[in-house]
Amino acid sequence: MISVVDLFRIGIGPSSSHTVGPMRIVREFLNLLSRHGELARTARIETELQGSLALTGIGHGSVDAVIMGLLGFEPETIDPDAARKAVEQAEASRSVHLPGGQTIGFDRKTDIHLNCGVIPKLHPNGMVLTAYDAQSAVLRCGEYYSTGGGFFATRLQLETNAPDDRIDVGANVPFPFASGEELLKICSEQRLLIDAVVQENETAYRSAEETSACLDRVADAMMDCIDRGLAQRGLLPGSLRVRRRAAEIHDRLQARWVSNEPECLFDWLNLFAMAVNEENAAGGRVVTAPTNGAAGIIPAIMRFYCSEGRRLDRAKARRYLLTAGGIGLLYKQRASISGAEMGCQGEVGVACSMAAGGLAAVLGGTPQQVTTAAEIGMEHNLGLTCDPVGGLVQIPCIERNALAAVKAANAARLALHNEELPRVSLDQVIETMRQTGLDMSDKYKETSRGGLAINVVAC
Ligand code: SF4
Repeated sequence: MISVVDLFRIGIGPSSSHTVGPMRIVREFLNLLSRHGELARTARIETELQGSLALTGIGHGSVDAVIMGLLGFEPETIDPDAARKAVEQAEASRSVHLPGGQTIGFDRKTDIHLNCGVIPKLHPNGMVLTAYDAQSAVLRCGEYYSTGGGFFATRLQLETNAPDDRIDVGANVPFPFASGEELLKICSEQRLLIDAVVQENETAYRSAEETSACLDRVADAMMDCIDRGLAQRGLLPGSLRVRRRAAEIHDRLQARWVSNEPECLFDWLNLFAMAVNEENAAGGRVVTAPTNGAAGIIPAIMRFYCSEGRRLDRAKARRYLLTAGGIGLLYKQRASISGAEMGCQGEVGVACSMAAGGLAAVLGGTPQQVTTAAEIGMEHNLGLTCDPVGGLVQIPCIERNALAAVKAANAARLALHNEELPRVSLDQVIETMRQTGLDMSDKYKETSRGGLAINVVAC
């Protein structure tokens, strides 16, 4: 089991696997050097980005993330504006000041390599870091993989199937579950709802009060992200010159605040999801939910169904996040939440499934109806490819989140009208997603080598 709090990491855009993961990997490597007394002798650090990290690394901000990691920034606490300024300074001065260490020489062109020719077998997001001393002798070399959602693993961990950087407490959680079926059995035997089961399991990591505080911080970060996205106008960074639209849509909706148009629900869900994903594309502060590319869906549903304007109903928001998190754990444990492994079904599809399950819980659904909603949320995203134009997390990502938020609401409604056992179980759909992801051509797995990425000119 892993903690749901690890699925909802507060970090910066535009990509959890390409920005948050690499930043955390660099930090881990620096800690390793420090633990072995090698940091003070380090004169240069070389980073090689492989596979999807290389192919979409520039558009997804991986190179900047590596530099931010070298400068000691951490995703959870980073100030995006200060970090961007520090990166510019490092490039101008051709040096970086290592956290707790000395200043070393740094040249972006020679010290960070995008090796598009290597697609690592263990995981498509490979990263090799090498530290040299002043005589250019190798002090240490580390091989890591950014496994999606900001998680990472070493080569050894992947080869031996050992846990990655997730918190691994295994049998210590009171109600361990590895499948939707087991989760439903626990709910039935213990007469608990899914959020209560997940909440009980979280006590293996921290007190109930601390878990509530963590969830509240996550919910607040999601709400803040929506508000920032609603206030920003202009162009998003990158060659596509994509215009932010959330603020304009917001103006229009506010001008006809009391609307009885039936499509009003679509407008608000679209708006909230797009506000988050525009912030993400701009490298702003977002919550991985469960990834950055898919970060808009879960907050959009939460804002619409768990709050009155800006004021959150804390109890509803906690139930929503715990339930959605419980569903997310199943995907993380039984398949993957990495677009580089599964295509977009593993990002937007998973987020849609989590949001659908969470919403069904908030609307009073039974555990069976919750898992049915999650199943429907994924079933109609199966096969969804990842083909970001220009390697940027903008087209199709921003609109795709809006569409998936609406789909999540629809999935929850369908499930709540369903009194029978569904023909397709959540476990079956997760396994189908995994197999589909394995069969999918690499062109459609965060490489920008197929689909819209080659049919839309990125200039
Ligand atoms: S297409 Fe989907 S998986 Fe790919 S970068 Fe965009 S949101 Fe992420």
